[in-house]
Amino acid sequence: MSEHSKWKVALVLWISKKCGLKKRAAFQGKIRIDKSACDGCGVCVKKCPKNVFILKDISDEEIADLSFMGKLKVRFRRKKSYVNDYNLCISCKLCERSCHKFAIQVGEKIE
Ligand code: SF4
Ligand code: SF4
Repeated sequence: MSEHSKWKVALVLWISKKCGLKKRAAFQGKIRIDKSACDGCGVCVKKCPKNVFILKDISDEEIADLSFMGKLKVRFRRKKSYVNDYNLCISCKLCERSCHKFAIQVGEKIE
């Protein structure tokens, strides 16, 4: 590998590492629910041992921000999962693993 190529590889690795850290930091101390992916099945509500989630109707304003597929899902079920009280969360990540739509991301707790 030429010296120029080595520099290019090192630069790409450095940028992807920085981006990855930034992405993880974005969720630190909170739970993100992708409302376009969520179909309101309620599994996370049942599985969470700390009752962090609630199911409620999504507002018209929020529907406007959904993806095309997200808007389509609302035609069948208007309910979505919302974080009721993040302070109760113990970061067990059971919700992340249980969601069949991979709609939940739990950030690390800020102590
Ligand atoms: S976040 Fe996932 S598990 Fe929870 S209601 Fe939505 S689709 Fe179901
Ligand atoms: S990480 Fe555990 S405690 Fe926190 S919301 Fe998910 S299931 Fe509930």
